[in-house]
Amino acid sequence: MLIVGAGHAAGEMATALRMNGYKGPITLIGEEPHLPYQRPPLSKAFLSGDITHERLYVKGPAVYTNAAIDFIPNSRVTAIDKAAKTVTLEDGRTLSYSKLVLATGGRPRQLSLGDERVNKAPNLHYLRTIGHVDNMREQFKPGNKLVIIGGGYIGLEVAAVARKKGIDVTVLEAMDRVLQRVTAPEVSAFYQQVHGEAGVNILVNTALTGFEFDAEGKVTTVLTANGHKIPADVIIVGIGLIPNVELAEQAGLALENGIAVDEYGQTSDPDILAIGDCSSHPNAYAGRRLRLESVPSALEQARSAAALLVGQKKPYNAVPWFWSDQYDLKLQMVGLNQGYDTVALRGSPANRNFLAFYLKDGVVLAVDSISRPQEFMVAKKLVAERVKADPMVLVDESQPLKALVPAAPAPAAS
Ligand code: FAD
Repeated sequence: MLIVGAGHAAGEMATALRMNGYKGPITLIGEEPHLPYQRPPLSKAFLSGDITHERLYVKGPAVYTNAAIDFIPNSRVTAIDKAAKTVTLEDGRTLSYSKLVLATGGRPRQLSLGDERVNKAPNLHYLRTIGHVDNMREQFKPGNKLVIIGGGYIGLEVAAVARKKGIDVTVLEAMDRVLQRVTAPEVSAFYQQVHGEAGVNILVNTALTGFEFDAEGKVTTVLTANGHKIPADVIIVGIGLIPNVELAEQAGLALENGIAVDEYGQTSDPDILAIGDCSSHPNAYAGRRLRLESVPSALEQARSAAALLVGQKKPYNAVPWFWSDQYDLKLQMVGLNQGYDTVALRGSPANRNFLAFYLKDGVVLAVDSISRPQEFMVAKKLVAERVKADPMVLVDESQPLKALVPAAPAPAAS
């Protein structure tokens, strides 16, 4: 069993295979120097310096050793030969497989401003790996001026950590509000206000047009279409992810906004599976193919694929969910809100904890929970069960949400 990539999905796949009783050799090949680690803290507790590298690892080295899982770090797989059932590593080595799992994740979308100095500037950073954070650490210090390009989750999480450290922060967002792609205007307005109160300068409707550089190639100033000239010591770009599908593409596997797999993680080749951020799967809840970028889906897809490889069929059919931590606030989101016609707020943004229900024709499509983790658990059920709910009931805090969850069918009499 060869697993290409050693991220969250790959690590879970390897250990789940052993838990399921798989006895053959398992090898994880990762281009980073690290065992599988958690990326969410990279824009949260690891960036702030509250936790060290060791705390990022999903499992300690002994777990892999004891489970006889071989790990080849610092090695990029450059090609797959489907007919010979081999992969080639960057250093020329060839490894054979009986089953191959692609867990190659994605890489940050880069700025494309037609100026080759941009992505070489030593103070312009992307954020996906431990290495990226280590590189920016020196510049991420009190008193420095940080400009964040992109008002999505990662940009806003970085802004929150930076403000707590006493860094001067400006966020550039090209759309008319932050988190525009994923939340309702009410939730965006709440986050804009929270960040504004913390001293973050958020500029919406503001497209980046370029930079000014010093003689060493460092960015000194950020330029916008509205004519802003923003002085900067450090720039962090969070404008999305490109799935790493090139290996699969070169091997002729079917692609569809990611490596196309079925509900078990099977690609168009019977001996190759794909899991995590690089894959797109038919999602029963959404009724269409989805490529998700979240830890819960990476883990669950890995478990489903690991089951398939020991002859069990456990389709991945979870309802997508995600979380984001900013300041003292825990944002949890479940479902997909596309096409909603009504937003109902339970609780008040002024109290810094509330729920936003997204409904279409009365059906709860999705819920955002801001620091209401217990009600979020109930909200997950409402979304999964596609409950039809009266918005007046949803907003009425005297009525428990639990009452809206359909009762489980009684067990059949024997
Ligand atoms: P990855 O974790 O990207 O792992 C893929 C690995 O494969 C990488 O190490 C890559 O280098 C390696 N690789 C790629 N190609 C090759 C090759 N050819 N040869 C060898 N190795 C290769 N999700 C949440 O649910 N909640 C959050 O709050 C959250 N916050 C995040 C914050 C940040 C800053 C980031 C970057 C991500 C965050 N995510 C969050 C997303 C989450 O981390 C990803 O969904 C998850 O890591 C996906 O796991 P994966 O294994 O599919 O891919």
